Order: sequence, then structure tokens, then C-alpha cells
Amino acid sequence: MKALNLHGINNLVYEEVETPSPKRGEVLLKIRACGICSSDEDRVMKTGTYHFPTIPGHEFSGEIIEVGEGVEDSYMGKKASVFPLLPCGKCSACKSEQYPMCSDYKYFGSRNDGGFAEYLAVPIWNLVILDDSIDYKVGALMEPAAVALHSVNIGGVKKGDKVAVIGTGTIGVLIGAFSKLKGAEVYICGRRRESMEKAESFGFETIDIQRLEEKVTEKTAGERMDVVFEAVGTNEAMEKAVLSTKNAGVVVAVGNPKSDFRLPKDVYWKILRRQLQIRGTWNSDYSEKNNDWKEVARLMSEHGFPFEKLITKTYSLKEYKEAFAALADKSVSKTKLMFVMD
Ligand SMILES: [Zn+2]
Ligand SMILES: [Zn+2]
Repeated sequence: MKALNLHGINNLVYEEVETPSPKRGEVLLKIRACGICSSDEDRVMKTGTYHFPTIPGHEFSGEIIEVGEGVEDSYMGKKASVFPLLPCGKCSACKSEQYPMCSDYKYFGSRNDGGFAEYLAVPIWNLVILDDSIDYKVGALMEPAAVALHSVNIGGVKKGDKVAVIGTGTIGVLIGAFSKLKGAEVYICGRRRESMEKAESFGFETIDIQRLEEKVTEKTAGERMDVVFEAVGTNEAMEKAVLSTKNAGVVVAVGNPKSDFRLPKDVYWKILRRQLQIRGTWNSDYSEKNNDWKEVARLMSEHGFPFEKLITKTYSLKEYKEAFAALADKSVSKTKLMFVMD
């Protein structure tokens, strides 16, 4: 099969590799769409993967075209998305079904080969079967969507809440979408006019980050927001998030940090005096009891939000140079870039 194989930092190669075959308890997925995550940009261009070569890509969906030993034939032909984490099953986090905190996990697209390929063998435990009405491209948005929904659940967003999301990237917009679907009043905060217009095209009110405190005061009669999401990963955004949250409100730390964080003393004081909760969020829940993926699959099949509009552009695997150049070009506003395979 053809795949994009990472042989070293900045050395992604479109080449022929061996087609995987499903082992016991696995299916073979014909990958139909795979999103390119900003973490893939770092993996490919800056940090590399855990070992080389590795096929990146952890946001994918596809069609089940073969079943391994012990897997029912009824899986054949089904549409599926994939929870990309392969837990060890032995550590204390795994025993309590808190898989993202597993101390010895594997991961499609970083520690293991992933979705920038035509086929992948996947254990049935990782499959999230999709409704036929969900497009493969929308199905490939399930991973970032589950991450976003998980953070919305961590923030405890409920009907009537006033919510600010700092960050206009894919995760930021998806956090806005799920907060809205939960009945909150949502404001998306960004810097660039183009990104704000994109958020507005989804029906969100936007706030320029430079004027965040002033606008928050205006929109909430001085009470500030119930929940604020920091989905950028910068010191400035975290400062603004703390300052925009109401007494006893919740700040959710979502953005991967770009540098060390240091808060001015008067901002830090606000965390104490306003009794703020600062909550971290990581990945998504995939347990029997709490399963962000199943909730996303249900919300996507209800078509209450135009998820497909998040996809700015699609590329074939062969067009990877163009795709990564577009990803690296920060002068162009975009949400999700995606590979599609026929
Ligand atoms: Zn990702
Ligand atoms: Zn584990």
C-alpha cells in the first residue's frame, strides 16, 4: 500500500510499504480520511516520532474491509472512526478505565503507525462505529471533536452558562460547538480578523482578545464568564482566561503550552480571591461509563452543527508537500486540513 512514512525529522516520504493484515481481534480498515493535527506538524517538522520510520496520523475514519480471527463478520463494510490510544491494560489508570492517563500506552500515529496510509489494522476495542449518514471526512473529525467535548465536560458547561473560548483553531471552534449544543451562550475570542470571521460563519459571537476584559464586563453586566477555555497555550491567553472568569468559575486549560507559564502576581491573586477552579483536560474518555466518542458520534448523527465546514481543504496522500506547506503558512487562516483516500 502507499503511505506517508516519517524517516526522520523533516523527512516524510510517500512510498510503498507492506499492507498490514488484521491479527486476532482486529479488523483491516481501508482509511478514507485522515485529519492533519497541529501536533502532526510538530512531529513531522520539529520533534519527530518515538522511533523511525513511523506513519503519522491519529484522526481517521474508514471502512472495515476484512476481519481477523475471532471477529464477527457483521463488522464487514461498516464505517468506523478509531480511538487512537492503545492502553497497556495493566496500570492503575487502565484498571479504572482512565486510559488517557495510562503509564505505558501505545498510540496510532505517534508510537505506532497511523492513518496517513491506505490501510491500518485496528483492534475492535478501538472502533467507534459510525452512522451511515456521517461522511468519512466528518468521521475523521471525531478525534479532535472528542478532545473538545471532553474539555467541555471537564468544564461542567451547562444550559444558560456564559462561556468564552480563547482560540479559534479546530479545537477552539469545536469547544464552542459542543458548549452551544449544551445550551450555553458562547463567545469565541481570537486575534486575527479572518479567524474571527470564520468563527462568526458558524454562528458564534466573537471578541477580539485585546479587548476581552472590557467586552466580558459588557456582555455579563460585570459578572464575567462561568467557564473560560484557554485553547491557545500561551501565557497571555491564560492571563486573559483567569481575568475573564467569574467568582467560583472554571478556567479550563486546553492549549498545549508553547513556553513556560508565568502569571503576574495581581492575576494570580484573582485565582485565590475569586476562588477560581483551574482544571486541566487531556485527550478524551473512552470507558464504559464515560465515553466522549459515543457522545460525539450521537451528536454528529443529529446534524445539529455543520462539522463539515471545519474542513478547509483536502489533499491526496501524494499531495503531502502541499498540505504541510499550507499547514506551516501561518499567514493563511484555516481550520482542518485533511488527507482523503479513494
Ligand atoms: Zn490531534
Ligand atoms: Zn495502562
